[in-house]
Amino acid sequence: MFNLLFLPVIWVAMRKGYAGVALALVTIQLTLAVVTAFVGYNTTDFAILQLLMLVLSITGLLLGAVTTERQDAALRLREQKRELARILSNARAGAMGMALAHEVSQPLSTVATYLHAARRLLQSGVASEPVMDALVKAEAEAHRAREVLERIRDFVSNGNLNLEALDLSAIAQKIVALCGEEAAERGIQVEVESAGPVPPVQADRVQIEQVLINLVANAIDAASERSDACGRIIIRIATHADAVAIEVEDNGKGVAPELADNIFDAYQTTKPRGMGLGLHLSRRIVQRHAGRLWWEPITTGGARFVVELPTNGCGHNAA
Ligand code: ADP
Repeated sequence: MFNLLFLPVIWVAMRKGYAGVALALVTIQLTLAVVTAFVGYNTTDFAILQLLMLVLSITGLLLGAVTTERQDAALRLREQKRELARILSNARAGAMGMALAHEVSQPLSTVATYLHAARRLLQSGVASEPVMDALVKAEAEAHRAREVLERIRDFVSNGNLNLEALDLSAIAQKIVALCGEEAAERGIQVEVESAGPVPPVQADRVQIEQVLINLVANAIDAASERSDACGRIIIRIATHADAVAIEVEDNGKGVAPELADNIFDAYQTTKPRGMGLGLHLSRRIVQRHAGRLWWEPITTGGARFVVELPTNGCGHNAA
């Protein structure tokens, strides 16, 4: 009859673990002691019962220990999974913060430059026209920063592109107006080359401008590292079959060999204060427009980055 006790003890050990089975065994032992006292077993019978109790206890406790260990491991695994999910969501938030900082820092620094210029002009008592000009430019840049933020918000919330018919030649001229001053200050000449009228492309104006500003800012950095002050950037518009391409070409030092294959991956940078996100985000934007972004080395030195956008207007919302 004693052997029947094995079944509930095993069940308790597997369900409740070490603590549960220990409690069950103590209860059984106490019950046995009470029953023995009532029935009046002799010493030999009591010794046999205790021996069986010992075997039952060892079996129950071993099983209970294994169960408790398994339950602890499952708990640890659940905690690790929760921790991993927390780390991943922090990393995503961090990457988004970095992207935001990258996209907005450029217009904000331009605003600061124009405001600084306006203050200097006011201090030196210059007529109001140049001051007004600097303030109008600062205001336009501040609007652009807000547009960039709104586009990023749209991008994150529903991934929509604000498509409109774009004239890439006009956009190239606008980029030169935006970046030309900085290039000139760093002794770099910027030119636009276009072989006649180009067909319009369906694209998100702010996002495409952002891509081109990234490419031209990189070209300015590369060309300004020349020692002979002969830095030159050409923004070329070309018509391809079913597509229009904008090339940004510089005569700088060229792409560093270690970046040749992974320049579009996130966080690849050779600049001390670079974030390595501009090209990564730019390629994502162009791909969302069903276009392509690639780079080519220039044999005489320098690099050419090419944005190709389809003219059949197949911008889509894939991430
Ligand atoms: P960041 O400018 O913050 O470094 P990017 O993604 O825009 O990030 O650029 C990544 C890296 O690609 C740069 O650090 C630079 O080494 C390289 N690169 C980009 N454009 C050029 C270029 N026109 N010529 C040479 N190297 C370039």
